[in-house]
Amino acid sequence: MTDTIVIGGGLAGLAAAIRLAQAGQSVTLLQYGVGGLQLGQGTVDVLGYAPELVSDPFAGLDAYVGGHKGHPYSLFSPDEIKASVDWFAGLLPDLLVPGDGQNHRVPTALGAMRPTYIVQSSMHVPADVTSVAIVGLRQLKDFYPKMCAENLAKTSGWATSPYWLDFPARAGGVDSTATSYATDLDDPDTLARFAAALKKAIGNEDAVGLPAILGLRNPQVWSVLAEAVGKPVFEIHLGPPGIPGMRLTHELTQEALRLGVRVILGSKVIGFESEGGRISGVLHQQAGRDKVYKADNFVYAGGGFESGSLAMDSYGVVTETLFGLPLAMGQGDSGPLPSHEDLITGDYWADQGLFLAGLAVDSAMKPLDGKTAVYDNLHVAGGILAGAIRWSEKSGDGIAIASAVRAADAILDAQSAKQPRNEGKE
Ligand SMILES: Cc1cc2nc3c(=O)[nH]c(=O)nc-3n(C[C@H](O)[C@H](O)[C@H](O)COP(=O)(O)OP(=O)(O)OC[C@H]3O[C@@H](n4cnc5c(N)ncnc54)[C@H](O)[C@@H]3O)c2cc1C
Repeated sequence: MTDTIVIGGGLAGLAAAIRLAQAGQSVTLLQYGVGGLQLGQGTVDVLGYAPELVSDPFAGLDAYVGGHKGHPYSLFSPDEIKASVDWFAGLLPDLLVPGDGQNHRVPTALGAMRPTYIVQSSMHVPADVTSVAIVGLRQLKDFYPKMCAENLAKTSGWATSPYWLDFPARAGGVDSTATSYATDLDDPDTLARFAAALKKAIGNEDAVGLPAILGLRNPQVWSVLAEAVGKPVFEIHLGPPGIPGMRLTHELTQEALRLGVRVILGSKVIGFESEGGRISGVLHQQAGRDKVYKADNFVYAGGGFESGSLAMDSYGVVTETLFGLPLAMGQGDSGPLPSHEDLITGDYWADQGLFLAGLAVDSAMKPLDGKTAVYDNLHVAGGILAGAIRWSEKSGDGIAIASAVRAADAILDAQSAKQPRNEGKE
C-alpha cells in the first residue's frame, strides 16, 4: 500500500511529495492541468505587501497576522515559515537563491521592482550594479525595453539604457514566443550566436536585463551567457506562462522523481472512497476506465479557484469540488460562508471577500467541520486554505510551502508514533 497520495502538482503538492519521499515514504502524486507554479514567476513570495512594501517578510509577520484574523500564517510561527522556505530553497541550491532574511527586489517587465523572498539565480542582480542595459527582442512581442527602462530608472536607482536586438529564435521567425526562445537557447550553438549578437548590441553598462527566456531545461544558460558577454545578465519575468515557472516545475518534478515519487500527470481525481472516518482511496479519471488509488494518507493540494478546487456556481454557491469539504472565511472560522452578495463587491479593484474563502484546518493541516477533522487521514496545503488574498499580499508561495511542510511532517509524526521511521532511505 502506498504511504501517501498527493493530489495536485503545484508548489504545495510538489513540496509535500518531496518532503515525504525524503523521509522514506512511498508517494504517488496525481497532477491534472497546470497550476500557479507553471503560470507563475518561478520565485517564492512569503510576504511582499502588508499593504506597504515589506523588506523583511518574517519580522513583520506576527504583527500582520495579528491584524488579519484567520490568516493561514496564524497556523505557523515566523521561524517555522522561514525554516520551511529555506528547506525548499535547499532542494535546488544551483537554481534558487533565498533572500537571507530579506526580500529580494526584482524588476518586472513594466519596470517596477517586485519584492520576493526566493529568486532564481538567473534573476539575481549583483548589489554593486549601477547601470543596466535593458534588451528587447524584435521578434518577441511581450517585452518593451524602452518602457521597462524608463520606469526602472525611477524605481530601481539604476541608470538604464534600452536596446532592441534582432535575433529570431528560428530562421525566418517573426513572432517568436518566450517558450520557443527558451527551448532554442538550451542549444549551445544558438546560445553562442545569441551571445555574440548581444555583445555587439549593448554599451558599457554594468549588467544586462533580458526578458525571461534563458533556457527551459538547462538552468545554467544565464551563467554561460554572462561569461560570454563578460558581465552579469539577469532575467525579467514576462506574463504567464512564465519560463522561470516552467523551469522550476521541471526541476522540482525531477527532484521528486529522483526521490522515488511516482508522478502521474494529465488526469484528474474525480472522486473518493471513505470508511470509518478515513479516506481509503481516490478515483482517478483514466482512458477506458477510472481507477481507484489507495493509500494510508492523503494530501490535497489542489489550489484555489484558479485551479478548480474551489468553485462558485451561477447561483453564487461556493463549493470545494472534490471532497465537498465545508468552507470558511479564515482559520478558526467554522463557517458557513456569507451569501455571495457579501462575498463580491462592485469595486473591481477592491480585495474581494470571495478570495478569502477556503478550508479551515487544525494544526496537522486536516480540514475541519467546526472543530472536528472531517477525515482522520486527509491533510490539505496551499492555495485551498482560507483566510488570505495571496496575490495582493504576495504570500501565496510561502503559505503553500509552510502548509505543505506541516502536512508532510504531521503524517511522518503520526507514522513514527505508529512505527519507527526508517531514517535516511534516500
Ligand atoms: C494568476 C495568478 C497569479 C498569482 N500570483 C501570485 C504571486 O505573485 N505571488 C504569490 O505569492 N502567489 C500568487 N498566486 C497564488 C499562488 O499561485 C498560489 O498561492 C500558490 O502557488 C498555490 O500553490 P498550490 O500548489 O496550492 O496550487 P496550484 O499552483 O494552483 O496547484 C494546484 C494543482 O492541482 C491541480 N489539481 C486541482 N484539482 C485536482 C484534481 N482533482 N486532480 C488532480 N489535480 C488537481 C491543479 O490543476 C493545479 O495544477 C497567484 C495565483 C494566480 C492564479
